[in-house]
Amino acid sequence: MSEKGIARRVKLPKRRRRPYHEEVRCDLHVHTHCSDGALPPAKVLQLARSGLVELLSITDHDTVAAYDAIAGQLPGGLRLLPGVEISTSMLGEGELHILGYFPRGINSVLREALDEILVERTERMREGVGRLARDAGLPLAFEDVLTRCSGPVISRSHLAQAMVDKGIVGSYADAFRQYIGSQHPFITAPRTTPERAIDLIRRARGISIWAHPRLDRLDRRLAGLVAAGLNGIEVYGRNRNGEALARLEAAADEHRLLKGGGSDWHGHAGSDRLGAFTVAGEQISQLLSLCRPPA
Ligand code: AMP
Ligand code: MN
Ligand code: MN
Ligand code: MN
Repeated sequence: MSEKGIARRVKLPKRRRRPYHEEVRCDLHVHTHCSDGALPPAKVLQLARSGLVELLSITDHDTVAAYDAIAGQLPGGLRLLPGVEISTSMLGEGELHILGYFPRGINSVLREALDEILVERTERMREGVGRLARDAGLPLAFEDVLTRCSGPVISRSHLAQAMVDKGIVGSYADAFRQYIGSQHPFITAPRTTPERAIDLIRRARGISIWAHPRLDRLDRRLAGLVAAGLNGIEVYGRNRNGEALARLEAAADEHRLLKGGGSDWHGHAGSDRLGAFTVAGEQISQLLSLCRPPA
């Protein structure tokens, strides 16, 4: 009898299915036009699906409006982990972003706190545009920025676009270089602190992850953030490799932190397609094991 025949008759043990989270292709850091991304949430879901992303988190700056917009419209083959990216600043040390993931869903604790943060964000822009007009003499009004927003978040990204469109600067990058980068005084840093964001995410029953941590800050800031309750750091991201990646992995292990990852895709012209960068579930399996298994 041929070997093939024997193999057919012998009952082979069933290939054990690996846990879902070890194989899934993930992108846990993506923006829509509800904050400063280019595209509406439904389109982002469609692109994620066609880019073969299997687990996606939309993490707009300071808002979960995208989740309200797409309720019940998830394409087959795609799962969502509710998320947000909260902008914070440290006294004199610049900005720091904290991602929150909410496997148990988005609750009113989170919504109410984000509403307050958005009020502060809008005030910061109103005052900042006032300073740019008054102190720098730029022909700009708050409404020029507001009309470029598609959701509840008004950001320096919209402002930069307004400055390009009005011919005030030659390019989007120039807007940051010349006027609105954090080295300039016109647009103030967010008022939320990293500790407040971590605490909010915990109270909202979420998981807090330091987004795109800067290596020069890791040694100085990580222990303090862990003491404040930080759950993890975003280890995997576009253009993070070699020594930088090794340092982030080591820092996560040393502090027993969860590892997160995502592309920080905004979808503007010239960006990679969604799905060009993904994280293997295996790389972030501890984080995924805390998330509700898929139905
Ligand atoms: P905001 O949340 O209002 O502080 O705006 C920050 C957003 O502007 C970031 O999330 C980026 O999308 C974009 N941004 C910040 N700094 C730069 C920069 N130097 N060059 C280009 N885009 C930037
Ligand atoms: Mn952004
Ligand atoms: Mn960020
Ligand atoms: Mn981001």
